Amino acid sequence: MPEMLIGGEWREATAHEELEVVNPATEEIVDSVPAASPEDVELAVATAKRAFAEWSRTDVEHRASILAKAADLIHERAKDLAARLTSEQGKPIAEAMGEVSHLAHGVRFYAEAATKVRGAYQELPSTLGPAYGMVIRRPMGVCAAITPYNFPLTLLGTKVAPALASGNTVVAKPAATTPLATLEVARLFSEAGVPDGVLNVVTGRGSRIGDGLVAHPDIRRVAFTGSTETGRRVAALAAPDLKRISLELGGSDPVIICADANVDAAVKAVIIGRYWNAGQACLGCKRVFVHESVYDEFVGSLVERVGRYEPGDGTTKAEKPKLRMGPIHTRAGRDELLEQVEDGIASGGELLIGGGTTDHRKGYFLEPAVIAEPSTESRLNREEVFGPVLPIFRFSDFEEAVRRANDTPYGLGSSIWTHDARLIHRAAQDIEAGMTWVNQIHYGYDELPFGGVKASGFGKEHGIEALDSYVEIKSVVVGGLA
Ligand code: NAD
Repeated sequence: MPEMLIGGEWREATAHEELEVVNPATEEIVDSVPAASPEDVELAVATAKRAFAEWSRTDVEHRASILAKAADLIHERAKDLAARLTSEQGKPIAEAMGEVSHLAHGVRFYAEAATKVRGAYQELPSTLGPAYGMVIRRPMGVCAAITPYNFPLTLLGTKVAPALASGNTVVAKPAATTPLATLEVARLFSEAGVPDGVLNVVTGRGSRIGDGLVAHPDIRRVAFTGSTETGRRVAALAAPDLKRISLELGGSDPVIICADANVDAAVKAVIIGRYWNAGQACLGCKRVFVHESVYDEFVGSLVERVGRYEPGDGTTKAEKPKLRMGPIHTRAGRDELLEQVEDGIASGGELLIGGGTTDHRKGYFLEPAVIAEPSTESRLNREEVFGPVLPIFRFSDFEEAVRRANDTPYGLGSSIWTHDARLIHRAAQDIEAGMTWVNQIHYGYDELPFGGVKASGFGKEHGIEALDSYVEIKSVVVGGLA
């Protein structure tokens, strides 16, 4: 059984309890991990606090070289990491390899970026003679990194890499159902030279240890990715101590396909955007609005391509021209999707393909679905749909499409397909979202700040901007120079 990492030691839970990890494709137990209790969290935070004293004083070049080494190790062990990830999360091996590459790329990005950050120097007016000001950046302390089940590794990297690069220490908490690959990645960080106590991982249920971690007085920064519901709780727990938090929450990204769109490219991008990871992506294409003049062409091509997917165990490949899609991560998640599909159809939507369970004896599989024109009040339009189910809506007026795109509590990503500069400008300005892709796939680039508005949360991950969110900016005024 893998153990959790606290202070450089691999440990069982203090209460000796365990948590089973289940493969969603086979429903078999893959492994067990310690089920941490609040005492374990206490220990991890205390250890990280002690380690901060030394780590925060190391020079950035040193920290960056350790992160670069970690990125190399992740790259070298990609196959093993991907296999572990598939066994606990369900995604096909090829997608798991993609996630591991993205993790290595993100860690390397911060190894390089951290050494390029420059500060400010400002000459100042002063009655006491010449003076100048400096703006310096100080690490914050112990950071909590809380990750969800859908991309356990990339979302770990987006937190741990900028936190460590900036001189902080970390207590990471993966989702209860996906701790295994995370523990392996922590092992590689240690192997790369991250000192004992600088990166700790506690495994267990969020309902048991989440509150204690977020509210711990020695945690100064909480980076949370997960559902909007849990995010609200994290915000409330962090409020009394005025902790700095970033909340990367749910989404219901709109896609607007205009009359002049490259329909073939748009179909390909929407397929990836909606059906990658069996649709369990925060920035998935979750509502598509298609101009009436290209609606039939778009829908015909989309449905034909969705028909190529074959749900199955992610460790096996589908026979060409079929494409493998993994299971939904939990039975409860699949049940919710089935209910959302049923509601969409009952509201007047037409099921064009998929939407049912498969005939596998085990595993939480769902046939990928497309549903035309469910009602605007249906759950498919009003809620986050976290799986391979896509509602499609027809529009005739661009302003109307933007209004409907914004008619959601969420505001994570969005995209538009057109070459009309005026419409591109309108989309960039008017769509209420943290990101707008133009003629592009919904993808979280390491190079660009990423994060939502409205019920999708606040704060940014990725990009050079994320480094700022792991430091205290301090102004220093220096006089007595004459
Ligand atoms: P979740 O909210 O159920 O769990 C996320 C994490 O929070 C897990 O590690 C969980 O154990 C922990 N947790 C649970 N209760 C807690 C508490 N009281 N205090 C602290 N931590 C607690 O989310 P999930 O179902 O694992 O993930 C799916 C959701 O994540 C979707 O809504 C998806 O859109 C969202 N997501 C958002 C982004 C983004 O960048 N915006 C990225 C990926 C996923």
